[in-house]
Amino acid sequence: MEKWPIGVFSSVDAGLGVRLDVAKELGIPTVQLHAPHPGNRSENAAQRFLKDAEQAGVTVTCVFGGFEGESYADIPTTARTIGLVPEETRASRLAEMKEIAAFARHIGCDAIGMHIGFVPEDTSPSYEGVLSATRELLDELAGYGQRLHLETGQETASHLLKFISDSGRTNLFINFDPANMILYGTGEPIAALKQVGHLVRSVHCKDATWAAEDVRGKEWGREVALGDGDVGMATYLQTLKDLNYDGPLTIEREIPQDPVRQKADIGQAVQLLTRLREQVLG
Ligand code: MG
Repeated sequence: MEKWPIGVFSSVDAGLGVRLDVAKELGIPTVQLHAPHPGNRSENAAQRFLKDAEQAGVTVTCVFGGFEGESYADIPTTARTIGLVPEETRASRLAEMKEIAAFARHIGCDAIGMHIGFVPEDTSPSYEGVLSATRELLDELAGYGQRLHLETGQETASHLLKFISDSGRTNLFINFDPANMILYGTGEPIAALKQVGHLVRSVHCKDATWAAEDVRGKEWGREVALGDGDVGMATYLQTLKDLNYDGPLTIEREIPQDPVRQKADIGQAVQLLTRLREQVLG
């Protein structure tokens, strides 16, 4: 595969991301896949999707887990509902992640992504609980040569590094999302990228503007079309080059309520990334 192939999100049944025919139309060769809902994770479902992907000339580079009951309505709701952090659903979601990993194997994909949730303070009792669930998942994945990529943004880069180091496992990596650092107010994205760069195995190309300083970290910043926000895409790509990152550049633009604008924004993102890739890689 060429260096920095452009990518986009797609899904089997989640109604998120773009359809494969749209990816094909936009000339996009890779996708990260939102995991299908329970009941659609069979080998047959995987084979059907693979056939469509092949016809569209698209390779799946990462399968992203997600769960019923998660909500990104606002920052407190996100903290309460996302990933392996909520205790009541931790065991069932862990079981689901194992099922999603099996689906990824049917697709032939060795990278599983997820929002683990806001990693708790390492002095809190739930830190150990999240850590031990994560280790169990990592050990299951390791048996099949699979890796877990944690999405960034819900905690600072330092806290994420501490969590990864405390896991004591070698198949835990990072899916870096620069816009999340801005949206959640958890740190300047380029500095964060430099800090965690050695563990970055996949990235999102997403952009956002900061919330006002007095509410940062309490209220969302605003997600915007790629190039229109505060990330600085040229610097972002230059930093990825300096880190010797050579994986896909996966565009993330989730506005399912407005598919026309979503397609236009993704088209704009493809043009921007194509131009910058040429400029940065030379
Ligand atoms: Mg993301």
